[in-house]
Amino acid sequence: MAQINRRRFLQLAGLGGLAAGFPYAATWGSQTKARVVIVGGGTGGAIAARYVKTLDPAIDVTIIEAIPQHTTCYMSNWVLAEMRDLDSLTHSYDNVKKRGINVIIDRAERIDTEAQKVLTAGGQSVPYDRLILAPGIDFRWNAIEGYDAAAAEVLPHAWKAGPQTVLLQEQITAMADGGVVAIVAPPNPYRCPPGPYERAALIAHYLQRHKPKSKVVIYDTKDAFSKQGLFQAGWERHYPGMIEWVGGYQTGGGIKRVDVAGRSMHTDFDDFRADVVNVIPPQMAGRVAVDSGLTDDSGWCPVDFRDLESTLAKNVHIIGDAIVSSALPKSAYIAASTAKVAAVAVVDHLNGREPGKPAYFNTCYSLLTPEHSISVSGVYEPVADADGQQSVVGVGNSVAVSPADADDRFQTREARYAASWYDNLTDQGFG
Ligand SMILES: Cc1cc2nc3c(=O)[nH]c(=O)nc-3n(C[C@H](O)[C@H](O)[C@H](O)COP(=O)(O)OP(=O)(O)OC[C@H]3O[C@@H](n4cnc5c(N)ncnc54)[C@H](O)[C@@H]3O)c2cc1C
Repeated sequence: MAQINRRRFLQLAGLGGLAAGFPYAATWGSQTKARVVIVGGGTGGAIAARYVKTLDPAIDVTIIEAIPQHTTCYMSNWVLAEMRDLDSLTHSYDNVKKRGINVIIDRAERIDTEAQKVLTAGGQSVPYDRLILAPGIDFRWNAIEGYDAAAAEVLPHAWKAGPQTVLLQEQITAMADGGVVAIVAPPNPYRCPPGPYERAALIAHYLQRHKPKSKVVIYDTKDAFSKQGLFQAGWERHYPGMIEWVGGYQTGGGIKRVDVAGRSMHTDFDDFRADVVNVIPPQMAGRVAVDSGLTDDSGWCPVDFRDLESTLAKNVHIIGDAIVSSALPKSAYIAASTAKVAAVAVVDHLNGREPGKPAYFNTCYSLLTPEHSISVSGVYEPVADADGQQSVVGVGNSVAVSPADADDRFQTREARYAASWYDNLTDQGFG
């Protein structure tokens, strides 16, 4: 609240630039450029870098990214249906660098928000005037008893694309006809709300062609899920009897323990076994956010939704999946949308302007088959409650799923849109 008052006061007094971009103002006189550092070069980070650089080429923009190439999670379910390979989802930073953006391949261990420096595993100390934090998610290991990083090498999560996706695909390919693939679906909030259910459909698509006596069973923690009616109707239509959903209410809250060697899953009352066990564990903001004191008790990063500045540290803006649970889904499109809002806000702050009121956009397609897609989309805006607490809400009735009575033509068109959606999104960051 103090921050809001101060900001408004300075704006009225015409001093917004001096306060908001003080380090910038201090160095600009000696011709040093303002430094924007972006931690995490995934969808959100790469797009934020591009927009900051485009909006103000004088700003020195640096991405710190742990992995030399980025493999998108979105469309990694398509790999399981043999529609794409991982290479086609993997993007280098060559074009990013050609835009004049510095790319440091190193793991950010901690952000010193007082000294305004990023400390890396490789021993670097990278100073910033404004930081954009885009580390995505990490897993709450052992929240499901027995499921830790080592267990994930046997029972893959495949919720970060790359070797985990390959492992899950290999296990499904090796499974005998008549086998069972189990998906353990996580509690809210988590990355890509419809993702586990699209995964079920696309695994079923593979099984139907190669191992038609097999089944997919989803053990959910939740009692309901994203686009539920559309998914369940689509599953029954395209894969009758092949996909079973076991809601949290049926098992007293889902899987509580796994036994890796036995490939078994345990609720408070029942024991289940499957031939392939895909555990998507409970999640939190990327570890560096937690270790830098940028998360609250929920494990996610609280922000002021007007400019995405952390409410826990000045000059740090958070984007993408790491943001605290809100009306904004943890999707790639929201990662892109928050990236643009943060980029504009950072450039405005550094140039002494007060950012305008943003809007956030989401569109997310989920395939039922390679030729049938359903979708959800929405527009969101920041609002303050009576105490001045910021949140986001859907604008009017903009938040909606595709029609339940959509015909084949409609759903096929949406499947085409999904492919061009991917090209468009990845081009913004890596093209
Ligand atoms: C199976 C699956 C399917 C999905 N399908 C869709 C879909 O159809 N549509 C959709 O909109 N969304 C989808 N998503 C969600 C989408 O992938 C995420 O919402 C999006 O990637 C979030 O972007 P981000 O920038 O926040 O995180 P990420 O894209 O994950 O990027 C984070 C980056 O930060 C790096 N990083 C993390 N920590 C550090 C550190 N300490 N130091 C340096 N670098 C670090 C990581 O290596 C990574 O490159 C899907 C997700 C999954 C798992």
